Amino acid sequence: MSTEREQQIITNLTKVRQEVEELKGSNTARLVAVSKYMPAEDIEYATKTGQTHFGENYLPSSIDWHFIGHLQSNKCKTVAGIPNLFLVETIDGIKKADALNKACTAVGRQGRLKVYVQVNTSGEEAKSGVPASDALDVCKHIKENCPALELYGLMTIGMKGRDATHNPDFEKIVELRTEIKSKLELDVFEASFGMSSDFKEALLDGSNNIRVGTAIFGGRPPKA
Ligand SMILES: *Cc1c(COP(=O)(O)O)cnc(C)c1O
Repeated sequence: MSTEREQQIITNLTKVRQEVEELKGSNTARLVAVSKYMPAEDIEYATKTGQTHFGENYLPSSIDWHFIGHLQSNKCKTVAGIPNLFLVETIDGIKKADALNKACTAVGRQGRLKVYVQVNTSGEEAKSGVPASDALDVCKHIKENCPALELYGLMTIGMKGRDATHNPDFEKIVELRTEIKSKLELDVFEASFGMSSDFKEALLDGSNNIRVGTAIFGGRPPKA
């Protein structure tokens, strides 16, 4: 028997997915359902619609996980040991990349772990991520010196309340994607941007990976 909650999540997810299909054009755009702080049943409901990519700040148990929280050096081993980890979206410097690379080797991880370099496109002090001017160097370092990692793209959170149709954070990350993909001669190099409030504009701007929480799962309970 399906509960009201289940129906709600399925309805929301179906709607978001239709919007993604309509707006992505010829681009590839992955929908990451941000399930942080939500109970396990919610994730189960979402998987019933075929959703396989989920984003968490905390340490999860299964599915195609995207780690989107701040990655602390002393947590790299734990993160590297999660078998179903699909992608770590929050590499915020050379040291962090080295730590995760080392951790992957230490835990004997199979295959290379996909990573995005998080870029602080808005230059806000409180935001994690490398400055836009360092993004190329960090990417180059990963490509050349971190064999356990697969450099897969860039990620930005961006400033709240930006003009959605001319969002400077989106413009910056797209510009960096083009530049770095070409300079490092990468076959695949994605850009992860867009959340509940602006994922439609992000898709129109060419996002490859949108991270949508509230629009699927509703408001979040306060962090414990
Ligand atoms: C929580 C979170 C999201 C989802 O935000 P919504 O506005 O609820 O869609 C996306 N990205 C990151 C990094 C987050 O921490």
